[in-house]
Amino acid sequence: MAEKVVFESARKADADMRQARNPVEDKNVIEEVDKVISAAADAGASEVHLEPVQDGYVIRVREAGTLRKVSDIPERLKLNVANRIKVLAGLDITKSRIPQSGYFKLVHGDKKLELNVYSMPMLYGESIVIKLSYKVSATMRLHQLGMQPAVLATYQKALARGSGLYLITGPPGSGKRTTIYASILEELKPDQLALGFDPVVKYEVPGMVQGKPEEKSEYTFAEAITALIRQEPDIAYIGEISGEADARATIQGAFAKRLVLARMTANDSVSAIQNLIDMGIQPFLIVASLAAVINQRMVRRLCPSCRQPYSADATMEREIGLKLPDGAQFYKPKGCPACQGTGYRGFLAIFELYKPNEELGKMVIAKEPVQNIRSKAFKDATYTLKVDGIMKALGGYASLEDVLNCL
Ligand SMILES: [Zn+2]
Repeated sequence: MAEKVVFESARKADADMRQARNPVEDKNVIEEVDKVISAAADAGASEVHLEPVQDGYVIRVREAGTLRKVSDIPERLKLNVANRIKVLAGLDITKSRIPQSGYFKLVHGDKKLELNVYSMPMLYGESIVIKLSYKVSATMRLHQLGMQPAVLATYQKALARGSGLYLITGPPGSGKRTTIYASILEELKPDQLALGFDPVVKYEVPGMVQGKPEEKSEYTFAEAITALIRQEPDIAYIGEISGEADARATIQGAFAKRLVLARMTANDSVSAIQNLIDMGIQPFLIVASLAAVINQRMVRRLCPSCRQPYSADATMEREIGLKLPDGAQFYKPKGCPACQGTGYRGFLAIFELYKPNEELGKMVIAKEPVQNIRSKAFKDATYTLKVDGIMKALGGYASLEDVLNCL
C-alpha cells in the first residue's frame, strides 16, 4: 500500500467530535482500523464485518462472496475500534444500545469509495458491518448493453426526443442503473446539466451532479425530487419511485421540456404502468408524460471457451411456448481454466421495450388489463423479455435454464 489513505468524514460535525474524543483515538487503534479497511479496498472486498465475541472482535472481510478472517481485536481495544469506525461514519459514540447507520468516503490510491456503516447491539457488544461501494466512472454505452438492434434503435430514437418520462424497470439486481447511466451518457451534451438523486450513487458522470437521501434527512424523497426538478436540469435521474408522492413529483417534472429517467421495481414493462396507476396516478397523466419503458433482467454469461451445445427438442419447445428454428441448439455451462471452473464469465442483460403510441395510450386510459395492453404492444414480433432471453440462449450467451428462471 504505497498510496496514502485519506478519510473524508460524511458530516462536518464529525471532525469536532473526533477532536473532542482524541484520547479515545489511540494511535494503534486508528492504524489497525485503517489497515483493515485499506486492505479490504485493495482486495476489492464488498464488506468488512466486526463480529463481537466474548474476548474482543473477530474481523472478517467478504471478497468474491466469501468471508475471510483478517484480524482479532483484543477485548481492551474493542470499544476504541468500534468508536473509530462510528466516528468516521458520523454515528453517535455515546449510544451503543441502538442500531445506527451512517457513511464515510475514502480515497485510496486511484480508488474512490463510499463506505456505509451499520451498527447494532448484540450479546458481546456492537456488531458493525462496513459495506464498501466503489465509485466508478460510468463508461458502459447503450450499444454495449446487448440490446437487439431493433430495440436499441427504437430506444435511441425515443431518447433523442429529449423530454418526457423514461422508466427503467425490473427486479432488484437486474442492472437498471447501468442502463440509466448509459442513457445519460448517450444524451447529455456538454452544454447541459444532469442531476441525479439515488440512495446509492454507483457511478460518476462528468457534468452530472448527484445526491442521496440520508438517514437524518429532514425531507422526504418526494420533496427531494421536487427540489431537484426546480433546479432546472436538462436530464433528471430519480432512483427510485416507490410510492404515490415520488411518482407524482417525478411525473410533474417530466412535463417541462426535460428528460426524466426513473428507476422502478416491476415485473414487466406494462406492469410498470399498472404500478403507477395502483399508486394513485391518473392514467392520463402517465400517458401524457411517458416516453418509453424498459424492463430488464440480468443473467450469467456462459463462458464461450467451454459452453456445451445440445439440440433443442419438442419438450423444450412446449415448455418455452415458442416455435424454435429447425436445428436449434442451446448451451450448458461446463467449466475450464478461463472461467475458474465455473462455466460462466460475467453477466448479460435481457430487455423489453414498451414504446407508447396513441392506440396503447387509449387502452391505458381505459384501464384495460395489463395482458391486453401487452398483447397489443408486442404483437408485431417486438422483443419481449422472453423472446430476447430465448434469442440470447440460442446464441449461446446464456443457458436456457437461467433465462427461464429469471422471467
Ligand atoms: Zn470456461
